[in-house]
Amino acid sequence: MPKIIRLSPHVANLIAAGEVVERPASVVKELLENAVDAGASKITVEIRDGGMTFLRVTDDGCGMAPEDAKTAFLRHATSKLRSADDLAAISTMGFRGEALAAIASVSRIDLLTKTAGAISGTSLHLEAGEITEESEAGCPDGTTIIIRDLFFNTPARMKFMKSDSVEGSRVAAAVQLQALAHPEVAFRFLRDGKEVLSTPGSGGLEAAVYCVYGRECAKMVKVESRWENYTLTGYVSKPTDARPSRSLQTFFVNDRPVKSRLLISALEEAYRNQIMVGKFPACVLHLTLPATAVDVNVHPAKTEVKFLNEKSVFDCVHYGVLGALNKTPDRPQVQFSKPTLSGEVAHSTGGITPQPAKKESFFRTMTAEEYKSFTTVIKDAPQPKPAAAIATAAKVERTAMPPIREHVMLPQITPEEKPAIPPVQKIIPPIPEPEIEQVSLEMPKEIPWRMVGELYNSYIIVEQGEEAFLIDKHAAHERILFEKLKANQEAISSQALLTPVPVRLSPEAAAELLSNQPLLDELGFEIDEFGDNTILLRQIPMDLSPDDAGDAIETLATDLLNGRRENKNNIRDELLHTVACKAAIKAGWRTDDKELLALVDKVMSTEDLKYCPHGRPICVTLSKKQLEKQFKRS
Ligand code: ADP
Ligand code: MG
Repeated sequence: MPKIIRLSPHVANLIAAGEVVERPASVVKELLENAVDAGASKITVEIRDGGMTFLRVTDDGCGMAPEDAKTAFLRHATSKLRSADDLAAISTMGFRGEALAAIASVSRIDLLTKTAGAISGTSLHLEAGEITEESEAGCPDGTTIIIRDLFFNTPARMKFMKSDSVEGSRVAAAVQLQALAHPEVAFRFLRDGKEVLSTPGSGGLEAAVYCVYGRECAKMVKVESRWENYTLTGYVSKPTDARPSRSLQTFFVNDRPVKSRLLISALEEAYRNQIMVGKFPACVLHLTLPATAVDVNVHPAKTEVKFLNEKSVFDCVHYGVLGALNKTPDRPQVQFSKPTLSGEVAHSTGGITPQPAKKESFFRTMTAEEYKSFTTVIKDAPQPKPAAAIATAAKVERTAMPPIREHVMLPQITPEEKPAIPPVQKIIPPIPEPEIEQVSLEMPKEIPWRMVGELYNSYIIVEQGEEAFLIDKHAAHERILFEKLKANQEAISSQALLTPVPVRLSPEAAAELLSNQPLLDELGFEIDEFGDNTILLRQIPMDLSPDDAGDAIETLATDLLNGRRENKNNIRDELLHTVACKAAIKAGWRTDDKELLALVDKVMSTEDLKYCPHGRPICVTLSKKQLEKQFKRS
C-alpha cells in the first residue's frame, strides 16, 4: 500500500483552481463578483490577448487593509462568512473564500488596494500563489488587480484554451452578464485598448439591457410582478421575436446569474401555443426572493441554485411572464423597406410590396346587397345568451353530427351566438341606413371598424379610424378554433367512422400508438391493430375531418415518440393544434363574406387574439401615417 500524505496547500489550490478558474472568463466573473461585494459603483475591466496575458479589474469599492490584502489570497479566507449559520442566508456574491487563492495559484498577480480614510494603500506581487513583493503605495480608494500569464505554470490547462478571440468573447459575455446582474453599477470593458461596453450604472435594468442587447431591447416586453414574497422584474421577447436557441435567456436569482431548468421551463410555459416549434424566447429576468428560500452553495462556480419551494418559483415566473405577454396590446406593424435607387420599393420579409396598378382592384368593398345581408343578420339577432346556454347549444349541435364544415364555422355566424355587444355600432355602412346611424350616435365611444375586403383570398383588410389591419384569415380562424376546443376541458368528443380508415405507419409509430390506447381514448381516437404496421381508425375527434385523420394520428405518434408524453397537456394541445389547423379556413380559398365578417368581429373584439397556435401573428397594422409616408404626403 502506498503511504497516504496530506497535499500541500499549493497542490490543493491547483486542484480547486480546476473547478473555479476554467478560463479567463471565469477569472473575470470572480473578480467582478468581488468588486460588487466590495460595494463598487464603477468597475473597469481590461484584457489583452483574450485575457491570457493581461487582465485588469479596477473598482472603487471598499478596498482592503494591508493585513487583509495578504490574507485574501489564502484558501478559505473570506470576509463574507463567519459561521455555519451564515450559510443559510447568503447575501453576497462570493462566500467560499476560494477564488483569489485559486486564481493566484495559476498566474502572476499585482494587487493595489486602499481603504477609504487610509493614508496610503498596499501593493502586492504574487507568483503562483506566493507573495514575492510587498510595499506601501500611493493609490486611489478601491482595488486594482492585474492577472498576468494565466496558466503559465499549468501547461495542461493552457492546452485547452481556444484562440484569443474566442476567449476574449467569453470574457465579454461574462462582463455583460454582470452588467445585467447589477444595473446599479457602471461597467466599462476594454478589449485590446478598445472600449466595447459601457453601462451608465444609474438608469436601471432597462438602460443596462439596452447597452448589452442594443435596439433589440426596445421590442421586448417589460415584466414586473409579485408572487407571495417573490418579485420578478425584467424583459422578455415577444412570441414573434423568438430566437433559434436559448442563448439569450438570462436569469438572475438575487442578482446572481444562474442556470436553471426550472426557470427555463417556467418561462417557456408562458409561451406555450404562441411560439413556433423549435424557437425560444429571449429574456433578462431578475427573480428576487428571501435569501433563506434559496441555496446557492451547490456548485463551486455558484451558477446553480436550489429553491426551497420550486412550485412557487415556477408560478412566479410563469404567471409573471404570462401576465406581461397578455398585457402587450400592440399588433405588429407592416414593415416597408427603404426605396431602392430605381425608386421601386424592395421586398422585405413580412412586409408588403405595393403592386403596380392592375386592371382589377384587389380591394373590393361590399356591395349594397352584401351589406344588407349582414345587417339583416345583425338586426334579427336576439339578445345574447349566457355562455352556458351557448355551450349546451353547441354540444347539441355536435351530437347531431352536421357536416364537418358547419362545425367549424365561427360561433358568431349563427344569430343565437352573437357577442354581447352587437357589432352594429362598429360597422360603418357604405350606404347609410338611418336606424343604424342612430345606434352609432347613441354609443360613440368605440371607433367603428369596417371590413374593406380581402387580399389574395388570404388577408382580410379592416379599417378603423386612422389605422388599417390586415388579418391572416387562416391564422385567426385556427386560433379561434383552438381556443374553443381548448376551453372544453372534458375528453375530446369523437365521431365513429362508418368505414374504418387504415393508416400505415412506421413500426415504432404503430407500436407507440397501440401501447397508448387510454391516452388516445381521451383524445377522441379509437384505434385497432390491423397488422403490417397498419392501424385502423374507428373513431376520430369530432372536429376532425376523416380526410385529415391519418395525418393527425401520425403527428400524434411522432409527438409520443419524441417523448412529449411527459406532459399530457402538451400532447392534447398538439392534437388540438392539428385539428384546428386542418379545420380552419385555408389561405388562398374563397371564403364567404359572412364568415369573414364573423372572423373580423372576433379578432377586433378579442384583445389577446394575437398569434396562431404556432406563433405566427394573426393581425398586422398599417397606419394612415405609414401609407402617407409611402406616397410622400407627409
Ligand atoms: P470570497 O469572495 O468568496 O470571499 P475571494 O477569494 O474571492 O473569496 O476573496 C477573498 C476576500 O478578499 C473577500 O472575502 C474580500 O474580503 C476580499 N476581496 C477580494 N476582492 C476584493 C475587492 N475587489 N475589494 C475589496 N475586497 C476584496
Ligand atoms: Mg469572491
